[in-house]
Amino acid sequence: ITNKIAALPPGTNYFSLEFFPPKTSMGSSNLRARLDRMSRALRPLFVTVTWGAGGSTADKSLELAELCQRELGLTTCLHLTCTNMSKKLVDKALQDAKALGVRNILALRGDPPRSEEYKERINGEGIDNIGEEEFEWAIDLVRYIRKTYGDYFCIGVAAYPEGHADEGHPEGQSLEHDLPYLVQKTQAGADFIMTQLFFDVEAFDKFEKKLREHESGVFKTIPIIPGMMPIQSYQMIKRTTKLSHARVPPNIMSRLDEVKGDDEMVKKVGVDIVSEIITHIQKEPAPGLRGFHFYTLNLEKAVSFILERTNLIPAESEDEESAILDMTSPLQS
Ligand code: FAD
Repeated sequence: ITNKIAALPPGTNYFSLEFFPPKTSMGSSNLRARLDRMSRALRPLFVTVTWGAGGSTADKSLELAELCQRELGLTTCLHLTCTNMSKKLVDKALQDAKALGVRNILALRGDPPRSEEYKERINGEGIDNIGEEEFEWAIDLVRYIRKTYGDYFCIGVAAYPEGHADEGHPEGQSLEHDLPYLVQKTQAGADFIMTQLFFDVEAFDKFEKKLREHESGVFKTIPIIPGMMPIQSYQMIKRTTKLSHARVPPNIMSRLDEVKGDDEMVKKVGVDIVSEIITHIQKEPAPGLRGFHFYTLNLEKAVSFILERTNLIPAESEDEESAILDMTSPLQS
C-alpha cells in the first residue's frame, strides 16, 4: 500500500474500500458480483477485509481476501485482531495471507483481552495458548509481524480522532490517553494509520495537526487515512455512532433529523454530508497525498455517489484504456 501511495503523481487523492465477509453463500455470490463491478467502476487504490473478533470469521475473511487479491487482482489489506485468539490462529492467518499474496495487514487489538478467569476456563477446555500474554495490545501484533516476517508485510494500525473508548468505558475516551501508545505502535513498525469513522471534521483536523506536530516526529510523513462512513439510513447512523463513540455535530444531526422519515432523503443528505467532510479535508494542506478509507458495509450506491461527487475516482490507466479499445475495435471496424 505505501509503495502504491508513493508511486502516485503529486496532488493525487486516493481511496480504499472496506468489506466484511458475508455469512451465507448467497451473500458471498452477491458480494463477488458487487466487488467485481465496484473495482472496475471505482478503481480503489486498495481494499480491506475485516476480521471477526477472536477469529470468528477467520476462514471467511481469508476466502474474501483470496477473492480480492487473487481473483480480482486488487491490492488487499487483511485486518487481523490479536486478542482472545490463540497464537496458532494468528500464525495461520499470517501464513495464509502470505500464501495468497496479500502484502498488507491492518494490525488490531480487537475486543479487550478476556479476564484471567475466562482464560483459565478456556485453557482447561483444551483451546491452546489463548492465555498467552504475547498479544495484549495491537502493538504486540505489530512487533510480532515485524519480528517474524521482517518487511514482507506493509502494516497499518488504527487510530481514533476522538479518542478510543472500550465499550462501556467511554469515560476513558481521550486522544491524549491514546497518543503515547500510537507513537509506540508507529515506532514498532506501522507504515500507515487508518482512523475510526467520524463526522466531527474539526476533531479530525485537530487530531491530524497534533500528530503531524508531535514532538516524537514519528507522524511527520506517515499516511494518515481518515475513515468515512457513508450514511445508509437514520437507524444505522444512530447505531454506528453509538458503537464507535463518534460524535455527530448538532448541525449534521439536525439535517438528518429533518428528513428522518424518508429513507431516500436520508441517503441523499448523507451523501452531501460525507462529501462535504471529504472536500474540507481535501482542502487542508497535508504532507504527501490525501487518502480516504470507506466503511462500505458491503453496499455500493452511497459510496459511489460520494466518490463521484468528490472526484476521487481515478481515470482509467492507459493500459486499461487500450485493453478496452482492443476489445471494441472489431465492432467499430
Ligand atoms: P490498541 O492500539 O491496542 O489500543 C486499544 C486501547 O488501549 C487504546 O485506548 C489505547 O490507548 C490503549 N493502549 C494501547 N496500548 C496500551 C498499553 N501498553 N497500556 C495501556 N493502554 C494501552 N475490530 C475487529 O474486531 N475487526 C476488525 O476488522 C476491525 N477493524 C477496524 C478497522 C479500523 C480502521 C479501526 C479504527 C478499528 C477496527 N476494529 C476492528 C476495532 C478495534 O479492534 C477496536 O477498536 C479495539 O478496541 C482497539 O483496537 P486497536 O488496534 O486500536 O488497539
